[in-house]
Amino acid sequence: MTAGDRSLGLRIDVDTHDGMKTGVPTLLEVFAAHGVKGTFFLSMGPDRAGLAVFNVFRPGFLAKMRRTKAARVYSLRTVLSGTILPARMIGLALPEIARRIVAEGHEVGVHAWDHRRWQDGLESFSDAQVARELARAYEAFVEVIGAPPKTFAAPAWLANDASLSFQENFGLHYASDCRGEEPFLPVVGGAALATPQVPTTLPTLDEALGETHPLARAFFTSVLVAAGKARWPVLTVHAELEGGPYADDMRWFLEQAAEAGIHAVPLNELLTARCATGKPLPRRTMGHGTVPGRHGKVSMPVFG
Ligand SMILES: [Zn+2]
Repeated sequence: MTAGDRSLGLRIDVDTHDGMKTGVPTLLEVFAAHGVKGTFFLSMGPDRAGLAVFNVFRPGFLAKMRRTKAARVYSLRTVLSGTILPARMIGLALPEIARRIVAEGHEVGVHAWDHRRWQDGLESFSDAQVARELARAYEAFVEVIGAPPKTFAAPAWLANDASLSFQENFGLHYASDCRGEEPFLPVVGGAALATPQVPTTLPTLDEALGETHPLARAFFTSVLVAAGKARWPVLTVHAELEGGPYADDMRWFLEQAAEAGIHAVPLNELLTARCATGKPLPRRTMGHGTVPGRHGKVSMPVFG
């Protein structure tokens, strides 16, 4: 790297069986071709993405599915998964792909046991349910990878005091549970936790398509501009999108990034660089807010 070069934290979420089976290998090839490393967050348990078809009355849901070209993104098998067809496992069913991620030098962490159950139900989960979902995901990760996870990213950027507190038991290097501007230490019950948060700072492709940027390349251009300005930028891509119908756009983005002197790195590298500044991480209480183009609330630091 030269003095003018900048780092972009690259996070890859894997939410479905098809995303793991075909999206991850595609992204691994794209990343290898560009010499790029990132952090993959794996859903381990059942793929019940299909249950979303029953949420059609939720405001914004259908519009969202149209925007992201759902038919191209989600196969019929995925749409029916967990509905009239049994839910397929994600990470647990495809251990060789999970291990290939590690073998190719990427960082890998836990995203979920049951992504959809967490996303739809966290608000009403008891503390015991939160603990159970996390513990199952962690156990499945150990079974597949053969070592405990060092990082976790809450499904749909939804965390609460119970999930943040229970995560403390796992000795994680960091978590990426929310949206925000920069790495920080979350405060629960008046005390800072030991596990730093490395938030997603940039919009995602599915949020931007049809909303702020109707074309994928316009979105990725805006990411380059934002990443050139932000101190600790983190981009989240999805195996189902950037490893699927938008793989060519992802390839194009990495070429443009390299030309602009922006290097995609795993989130642990970004955090290490942040800690190396010697300035303590800010402490922030986490609350909820909205981001343009995404339905519902997400976790983020709150001020004041
Ligand atoms: Zn996800």
